[in-house]
Amino acid sequence: MNEQKIKETTNLATNPLIWLVSLFLMIPIPFLVFILIYSRWYFRGEEFGRIRSSIRKYTADCNALNAHIEELRRSYVKAEKTDYGEARFENISKYKYQKKGFNAEFAPNIYDCSRQICGNARKQPFKYICKYFNIAPDEKTLARFEEVLNNFSAAEEGKLLLKNKKDRILSRVKTKIPAVIRIFMAKDLEKNLGFEEIAFNELYYPQFTFRYVSSGGNAGAQFTTTMDIPMLERFVKYLDENIKRRKSAAGQRALMTSKLRTYIKERDHYTCRRCGNSTRREANLLLEIDHIIPIARGGLTEESNLQTLCWKCNRSKGAKVM
Ligand SMILES: [Zn+2]
Repeated sequence: MNEQKIKETTNLATNPLIWLVSLFLMIPIPFLVFILIYSRWYFRGEEFGRIRSSIRKYTADCNALNAHIEELRRSYVKAEKTDYGEARFENISKYKYQKKGFNAEFAPNIYDCSRQICGNARKQPFKYICKYFNIAPDEKTLARFEEVLNNFSAAEEGKLLLKNKKDRILSRVKTKIPAVIRIFMAKDLEKNLGFEEIAFNELYYPQFTFRYVSSGGNAGAQFTTTMDIPMLERFVKYLDENIKRRKSAAGQRALMTSKLRTYIKERDHYTCRRCGNSTRREANLLLEIDHIIPIARGGLTEESNLQTLCWKCNRSKGAKVM
């Protein structure tokens, strides 16, 4: 038994394969250290400085578009700015009883409810969201969600265009940058060139959650509706149908759907109606759909009240209106 063990250990030490594998595993560490030191030296160098300033105009343009996209993504939060006050939470249960989910995350978009409401909300989310999150299914709400949908759609388009824009600039300076930096320090390279990070997460979509926790805390269920673009389109249609049903209005009205957005851009030949810039002139130009008379001033989502504007013109128009 003992003899066999000794034999095994000697085998292990002399096996060339083991040595090779361990050597191979150790290579990455000095290599990484080398890259880290080299890249720090390189990014501070004169040559890199020249590359950075040669594309300064383009990085500034990308960063401005990035900031604009972030602004678009905040449009829902901005519309929801009602201040309901704040309350301090204390658990005064006799035995410091901790009901799961009771004092945990408390978000304004979570509605704690009975098992029955939870179940109903699952079957008809839009109806219950309106009812329990104080969203009146009326014209004002419809206009607000149409605007959010319009902005979110532009933000998503902008994100892709921004990525293309950035890749194009990077490919132009690619040959001047050492491969080792491009491959292993891609993120640091972008940062050092002056690009702000593009937020690719999708966390900005509003979410509505119905949550049930039994009084014992053992049973629970929750249903969440995420208002991403397809869901927002459905919600806008739902609101429209609801309003029509209540008012028995027969008139056809346009809704800010992706189909309409595309139609308006086609009609305007993918050209900004203010400055005349177009996607033919600038491939990655973000075009937005603008209400000529703003929604806030009673403007409707109608073909005659919609126009294509580039994001810069739309932004400067928005600033003037406010
Ligand atoms: Zn323009």
